[in-house]
Amino acid sequence: MHLIERPPRLYRWLFGKALWRMPRTDRKCVYLTFDDGPIPGVTPWVLDILRQHDVRATFFMVGENVLRNPDLLRQVRDAGHAVGNHTLSHMQGMKNSCADFISNVERGAEITASRLFRPPHGLMTLAQIRAVRRKNRLIMYDLVTRDYSRLLSPDDVVRNVRRYTRDGSLIVFHDSLKAWPNLRQALPRAIEWLKRQGYEFGVLQ
Ligand SMILES: [Zn+2]
Repeated sequence: MHLIERPPRLYRWLFGKALWRMPRTDRKCVYLTFDDGPIPGVTPWVLDILRQHDVRATFFMVGENVLRNPDLLRQVRDAGHAVGNHTLSHMQGMKNSCADFISNVERGAEITASRLFRPPHGLMTLAQIRAVRRKNRLIMYDLVTRDYSRLLSPDDVVRNVRRYTRDGSLIVFHDSLKAWPNLRQALPRAIEWLKRQGYEFGVLQ
């Protein structure tokens, strides 16, 4: 759960060499990411929207959700999107030992067959950061849309995208039931706005 849209500088510094925003190229580009799925009803809808707009994205999946819905992982890959690991059980690092956390991360990596990793809630201890980075590419973000927040309306979510997007931004949405009421209205509008600004949509690898 993030209370602000942009990660503060101290927090970014503690994570060391994690990726917070992609380096700029000669083209304006953003990277849509969807955390916490795959979820029946939500993830297929997201895939539909992305297909309609001819946009590619990266899905940071929870291993247990993949085990319940293995077909959704295949659909995401078949549509040309990238898959990342978001632990086996959406485990929060700070609340667990390093050994427990790392084995949860490893199970997630096996199930998603991905070495892109994003920590649940963006939280890990320094020891966990070091351990995770030995085998994984740590992918953070510079914009959390906070689509999951009941305090925010779809308008607020779109406003966050408009306010905080930069060239190379890693933008976090959630293909979760919690985010669904905001996501279903905000995602199409956010994509349309990004396109009008001339952004292309990259995939992490
Ligand atoms: Zn998450």
